Amino acid sequence: MEELKPSLVGMTREELTVALGDRTDAKLRVKQIAGHLYSRAVDNFDEMRDLPQALREELKTSFQVQPLTVATHRTSQDGVDKLLVHNGDEEVYECVLLPYEDRVSCCISSQVGCPMGCKFCATGLGGFDRNLTSGEIVGQYLMLQRLTERRISHVVFMGMGEPLLNLKNVVKSLNLLHDEVGLSYRHLTISTVGLVPQIYELGELGLPIHLALSLHSPLDEVRNRLMPVNHKWPVAQVMQAMRDYHKATGRKITIEYLLIKGITDTPDQAHELARLVKGVPNVVNLIPFNWVDTEQGFARPERERVRTFRSILASKGVNTTERVERGHEIAAACGQLAGQHKGAFGLNQTRRKGISPLVTVP
Ligand code: SAH
Ligand code: SF4
Repeated sequence: MEELKPSLVGMTREELTVALGDRTDAKLRVKQIAGHLYSRAVDNFDEMRDLPQALREELKTSFQVQPLTVATHRTSQDGVDKLLVHNGDEEVYECVLLPYEDRVSCCISSQVGCPMGCKFCATGLGGFDRNLTSGEIVGQYLMLQRLTERRISHVVFMGMGEPLLNLKNVVKSLNLLHDEVGLSYRHLTISTVGLVPQIYELGELGLPIHLALSLHSPLDEVRNRLMPVNHKWPVAQVMQAMRDYHKATGRKITIEYLLIKGITDTPDQAHELARLVKGVPNVVNLIPFNWVDTEQGFARPERERVRTFRSILASKGVNTTERVERGHEIAAACGQLAGQHKGAFGLNQTRRKGISPLVTVP
């Protein structure tokens, strides 16, 4: 495959300055280019009309504006756009545009695949390919911004991958989204499976980034079976890390809670969850399982079971939200479209490849 040129999207102003080389007008040109890349989401050099033609041609020979190519674009009846993107190879990753009445949000990926091996997750079951670069991460936001007239104000890292395993590039991307695109840190959410050292590392940055923990069960014996990471950092330890994250950043913590019928949706777990989150500002986001073909035959609970679980939490004073499934017919849930695409590409040999040594299942 032809060697890809480095991408300008993903670069800080310092890096753009280096990329431009020794020029007397570098400061002005960097300002103009950063404006095109991040404020106007321009995706080709020809649209950067205030740059001299000669500079545009020079840049074209050494750089690409942004690294993504769209493999598939699907729009659901309820207005959700889902892109499956790649960089000219077969390593596809996905991002989703989610318009709401009061805001537009997007969901982006941090890795191609994921090595954490959660048993209910299409991405996890597909194995791991690689980390995404800051250009590929911010590039997803910009690609989605080009699809809508409205401004995307919120970003969640809930696409493919575990963001805290790619912390350096994710933090660089968060800074670019804040400094260059102009988003509030408070509108940026990282969702994590619960990597304790990295939660502290993120907390030490002191940025008011919103952190969501995918807990899915308050009981170690249940969580161990669903999420190999729990063998390394069990419930008590990860909850302590989330409390400390709250202390470091002042942000309320979000607990994501997957409701799998008969496994995580039992009343005793609702009671235990309420006990676990007591004393720290929090919200629990309930996510009824989106069907994925699992070895264990996991299923989505009926409405009544979800209601019961929710009312137990409410009776204990825990605030809950429920994730409403959108974009169902385009498989807009975590990892699903890429899963289908991999099949279509005949890439199933990548399944299970690269399960991280960190999370070896006993
Ligand atoms: N790796 C990170 C972020 C990406 S996953 C994490 O695990 O938090 C985003 C969310 O989708 C997580 O809460 C994850 O547990 C959830 N998820 C994974 N598979 C799912 C499924 N089949 N149905 C519903 N939610 C799922
Ligand atoms: Fe990875 Fe998150 Fe899926 Fe677990 S749920 S396999 S951490 S993407």
